[in-house]
Amino acid sequence: MNKRDWDDLLQADRDTIWHPYASATDPPAVFPVVAARGVRLQLADGRQLIDGMASWWCAIHGYNHPALNRAVHEQLERMAHVMFGGLTHPPATKLARILTRLTPPGLDRVFFSDSGSVAVEVALKMALQYWRATGRAGKQQFIALRQGYHGDTFGAMAVCDPVTGMHHLFGATLAQHYFAPAPGCRFGEPCPDRDMVAITELLSEHHAKIAAVIVEPVVQGAGGMRFYSADYLVKLRALCDAFDVLLIFDEIATGFGRTGKLFALEHAGVEPDILCLGKALTGGYMTLAATLCSRQVAAGICAGEGGAFMHGPTFMGNPLACATAIASIELLLSQPWQRSVQRLQDELSAGLAPARDLPNVREVRTLGAIGVIELTHPVDLQAVQPMFVERGVWVRPFGSLVYVMPPYIMGSEDVGALTAAMVEVVASL
Ligand SMILES: *Cc1c(COP(=O)(O)O)cnc(C)c1O
Repeated sequence: MNKRDWDDLLQADRDTIWHPYASATDPPAVFPVVAARGVRLQLADGRQLIDGMASWWCAIHGYNHPALNRAVHEQLERMAHVMFGGLTHPPATKLARILTRLTPPGLDRVFFSDSGSVAVEVALKMALQYWRATGRAGKQQFIALRQGYHGDTFGAMAVCDPVTGMHHLFGATLAQHYFAPAPGCRFGEPCPDRDMVAITELLSEHHAKIAAVIVEPVVQGAGGMRFYSADYLVKLRALCDAFDVLLIFDEIATGFGRTGKLFALEHAGVEPDILCLGKALTGGYMTLAATLCSRQVAAGICAGEGGAFMHGPTFMGNPLACATAIASIELLLSQPWQRSVQRLQDELSAGLAPARDLPNVREVRTLGAIGVIELTHPVDLQAVQPMFVERGVWVRPFGSLVYVMPPYIMGSEDVGALTAAMVEVVASL
């Protein structure tokens, strides 16, 4: 792309586009990308960036992968899309079989939707309909964790951390739920009973009004990039059973190997009643999400008024997306992905370790293919973003977090360059 086209593109962007969590009147700088291959993004001026973000957790196999490209082409030749009401098709049924086989045995019903936020909406609606159908219509509220993130639509937003989710902006429209403290116990350590006190009190006081507890298992993503004890989930499951409350796991960020297990719930050996998947489901190719639920939840809902679950997106079970998801999962499982993720964990740990000694760093932590430098103060994104680009890497900090979750295929040298750039930029702040 020549300079003139580049300028035109940026002008059109500034004039017309609203970027995520951004101002329209004082738009942030953006970088035009024209191609992506392997772990590299190619900018319009020819520069190549090593991608540390996997397009927000999604592109686990890197970009432009021949196996995924082939799956798209093959499905495209058959049909790109058909409605899912009254019709079904091989990509959806095959994907649903794969998902029910890979997830805990109790989860045997799959509801497809288009995005993570909608998968969360669906999970919340399932819980509400379940209790209504089983004669406990008073159970209308949820318990979520502080520093949690579950998406941007109204139902999902209402279970995000009230401060980082900016609940006050949406005033009375946002449903009011209960928030328990983020788990204090760290990943790999036991969870002392004192860490369960607050959520136990919430449940014991309000369980008659609580439909479900919703959490991101083990890794709290966009709400703080925190890793907590799997033991917390074991105890939470027991509490939910004791108080007759459903348990929803949001694995939209953690699913498909990111934490070193195929699903983060495997660290705890705990089965939720409802499970949300998204993000890496199609290897970053297309937008697709799934909400799985137990036989008990499905049967309960369908025994109730109307006899049906009341949701049905236009692009539900999109065949192109389902076919890509099948190819992505088969590709993942056909290789020793645990070894790749473990190697990434080792290399991220080693590469980020020097940041520990920097005065502006609060903590450096890694889990699976996730590496986080938490600073003592929030970064100025507009100032910091170009510093990464100048160093040939794509890293997008938020708040006081400079973090990466690279594609699993990233080679050791690229991980070294990525982490060196992170340490260098953080040191220069
Ligand atoms: C990204 C994310 C969502 C929302 O998914 P979208 O596809 O952006 O709607 C929900 N929950 C978690 C844990 C996420 O990381």
